[in-house]
Amino acid sequence: MITYFPGPAKVYPQVRQYLTDAYDAGVLSISHRSDAFVDISRRTIALLKEKLAVPADYTVLYVSSATESWEIIPQSLVRAQSLHLYSGAFGERGFQYAHYLHEGALPYVLAVDEAPDPAALPVDAHTELIALAQNETSNGTQVRPEVIAQLRRAFPEPLLAVDATSSMAGIALPFAEADVWYASVQKCFGLPAGLGVLICSPRAVARAQALHEQRHYNSLLKLLAQIEKYQTNYTPNVLGIYLLGRVLAQMPPVAELDVHIKARAAQLYATVEALPYAQPLVRNAAVRSDTVVAVEADSALIADVKAQAKAAGMLLGSGYGTWKTTTFRIANFPALTDDEINRVQAFLRQYVPVAQTS
Ligand SMILES: *Cc1c(COP(=O)(O)O)cnc(C)c1O
Repeated sequence: MITYFPGPAKVYPQVRQYLTDAYDAGVLSISHRSDAFVDISRRTIALLKEKLAVPADYTVLYVSSATESWEIIPQSLVRAQSLHLYSGAFGERGFQYAHYLHEGALPYVLAVDEAPDPAALPVDAHTELIALAQNETSNGTQVRPEVIAQLRRAFPEPLLAVDATSSMAGIALPFAEADVWYASVQKCFGLPAGLGVLICSPRAVARAQALHEQRHYNSLLKLLAQIEKYQTNYTPNVLGIYLLGRVLAQMPPVAELDVHIKARAAQLYATVEALPYAQPLVRNAAVRSDTVVAVEADSALIADVKAQAKAAGMLLGSGYGTWKTTTFRIANFPALTDDEINRVQAFLRQYVPVAQTS
């Protein structure tokens, strides 16, 4: 069965060997204070910066998940007020976690086909942080690098925090244009769940120091203090960190991946646009995701196409949130091969809705 779910997603097939290697090398039992761990961690962080083109002066931290980053960011980088732009379920959940901590966390809801327009945003002198999802996995939209750069130019003061959970390690990201970037490894990294990365600019680090928030086990200051030694202040997912290092070592530079993934995305959208029974959920091509393609049709048909795909050995990603029954999603993640991406397109082209066969 090939899974096209956008997370947990297909893992790179090499992970099977890496798991065995980890066991044989004793990685599963090493102390997170040992030189062996520090070596793995140092190498993993260096590879992540190299392969993903993260600026040298940014700091890479380990967390458990993107959800943890939703909490760490408002907890450790905001005193009172932040602005959260979103069009879907993941962006909204990030806003909710911020709002639990600060009444001054404000939502700014975008339509699915709408790109954020800096001139329209209610940013004022009290806005300490602007949050957005670069790739909104629930509806297959993205905020393009140019728009992130526009936001940075329009609002140089607030920190810019970007959820890149379902795009990091798939497409090239403009790290220098924002202060905080985060992801989990079960999406484009092609790894099993249980590890996240949180990447901070020097400005974000300075903000954490200025706020000096250290009441939580995952206070940014505590994570920052330990990562200077390539360590964490709790026992981390050592296996996950090891696997991340191995996958990064095998990965081409992100600029190369970017070209490949975007070419496949263009094909996928062209295929879906030509289907008589469905269409891309996102009509505005300028905000369509490259890594998660959401396909819309009536809900009876969605259920049938998923069932027929499953019978043919393909697990289409279910719809999510508002779009649960009226869409399915196809992950265009790097661990899926070109053959697998072609195969799902061939299936969609030859699929005949059940009502029309009788
Ligand atoms: C999957 C996802 C998350 C949540 O990731 P967890 O690892 O479950 O915390 C957050 N944001 C986006 C955009 C996602 O796709």
